[in-house]
Amino acid sequence: MNTDVLVIGTGISGLSYAIKLSMLSPKIKITLICKEDLMEGNTRYAQGGIAAVYNFEKDSFEKHIEDTYIAGDRQGDLNVIDFVVKEGTERVNELMEWGAAFDTKETKEIDLAKEGGHSEKRILHHKDHSGSEIQRALIDKIKAIDNIRYLENHILVDLITDHHTKTTHKRCYGAYIISTIDRQVITIASKLTVLTTGGVGQLYEFTTNPRVATGDGLGAAYRAKVKIKNLPYIQFHPTALHPKVNGETFLITEALRGSGGILKNQSGERFMHQYDKREELAPRDIVSRAISEELLSRKESHVLLDATQIDEEVFSSHFPMIKKTCRSIGIDPLNEGIPVIPAAHYSCGGIEVDPNGESSLQGLFAVGECSHTGLHGANRLASNSLLEAIVYAHRAALYSIECIQSIKLSDTFYSNIPNWDGQEYSSNLKVNKTQKLFTKLQQLMSSNAGIFKTNKGLKEASKELNSLYTETLDLYQKNKLTPQLCELRNMVSVAYLLINQALQIKENKGVFYNNDYAKKSIPKAVQS
Ligand SMILES: Cc1cc2nc3c(=O)[nH]c(=O)nc-3n(C[C@H](O)[C@H](O)[C@H](O)COP(=O)(O)OP(=O)(O)OC[C@H]3O[C@@H](n4cnc5c(N)ncnc54)[C@H](O)[C@@H]3O)c2cc1C
Repeated sequence: MNTDVLVIGTGISGLSYAIKLSMLSPKIKITLICKEDLMEGNTRYAQGGIAAVYNFEKDSFEKHIEDTYIAGDRQGDLNVIDFVVKEGTERVNELMEWGAAFDTKETKEIDLAKEGGHSEKRILHHKDHSGSEIQRALIDKIKAIDNIRYLENHILVDLITDHHTKTTHKRCYGAYIISTIDRQVITIASKLTVLTTGGVGQLYEFTTNPRVATGDGLGAAYRAKVKIKNLPYIQFHPTALHPKVNGETFLITEALRGSGGILKNQSGERFMHQYDKREELAPRDIVSRAISEELLSRKESHVLLDATQIDEEVFSSHFPMIKKTCRSIGIDPLNEGIPVIPAAHYSCGGIEVDPNGESSLQGLFAVGECSHTGLHGANRLASNSLLEAIVYAHRAALYSIECIQSIKLSDTFYSNIPNWDGQEYSSNLKVNKTQKLFTKLQQLMSSNAGIFKTNKGLKEASKELNSLYTETLDLYQKNKLTPQLCELRNMVSVAYLLINQALQIKENKGVFYNNDYAKKSIPKAVQS
């Protein structure tokens, strides 16, 4: 199969990139693939919304830039922060033109919300399910565009590079893709390949990310020797509902704290004031560590998010999904505290890209959560990731036009790209074998590379990962390729890289916290 541009992933990044590219050039052939259906991915679960400066009377680009830089513990790239924030408002306008609806006040003005780390109200939202509204609008739009085709239930196996084509250009020529329906591996040759595969949350036992978030794009990029940066900066969301609902960890949006929700331990005592003067509205890394410390020191399974002071009508109209989900497990958030724990949420690191979204491998782009742009520094500011995705999708699409025009390789070259020559198939792999290793990996990462890390724990994890890698490789070489095996192979590689990058970091910044470098072993002090 040949295409001009192959986009792997159909969240906000992949869809908005494809829409923008097709608008710039309706003749370019664009192929989108995704693991399950078009809807599934982190985007559809986004609750809070998308950050952008809209109220220019009170807010300003400068304030949003400062908030982003400070939340990132001053590790972000100021040039990147500057253009993402300044271009953001126009991109969000475009999202609305494409059909995404955000809540408005009676006056028809956009109803902007405030979240932790933001100095002003600047979050555009659609009740408490902003992501699914954005995803719905983008999917509707995609379906009406002629030069875009999409393949659901298809999984990236490996990127095609010079290693496969026996050439020396050092570029990406497409990807090998496996169908989850008939398990056939197909070759998609493309002039440009865009990874928009989202996050890595499934590395951990508790994560707000859905099942598809297994870091596949990163795993494939790692095997293709593409530069990957800052993987150990995993943001844990402070408030995920405990216990899981139908096997999934459900997020309780920050906006609930923004609307007055208060954190308490199980004795009903507030504790955030002991950690940060911004209390419940401190950045996520601080709130997550504070909750973890409470849980460790009090040996409790969860803390409580008390939102009973929020007006019932406001709660019901702004947070309908939270109300429904809590009630489904017998908790009434209008009358009692919501049990919450921190959960792995967002990968601040990823495939290193330039301001056009291009990776270190020519012809390979990365946009959205799987990329590292420099926007987030050591910690992402709430609601900045959807913004980053649309700004970079736009920039990458503009640059893609230039890149395609400059490609000199012939159509015959692309037609002659060799097919997948996978390993000898000797048996059919049992799903529970991969599942066992998957669970082992999640447990290892949760205990040794979670919110609080130690050098000893990281070294132990690195050793364990070596044996997990050997076991996975053995399965990979002796069995027929399955989608689960692809995921496991990627997760082991990403975990290995994350742990080894973590061992190189000698200073605690943002979401990265190693007890061995703590000024105090536990950060229980009011910060100025
Ligand atoms: C519960 C939750 C709430 C959030 N709330 C907010 C918020 O309010 N505001 C905000 O800014 N951010 C929020 N985030 C973060 C934000 O949603 C994500 O960072 C963003 O949606 C990522 O978009 P994406 O397009 O990069 O990836 P995703 O939306 O995750 O899409 C990834 C795509 O890649 C596909 N894929 C993955 N692997 C493969 C493979 N091997 N082969 C083929 N396809 C593959 C998937 O099928 C999917 O289509 C939240 C995240 C979660 C989980």
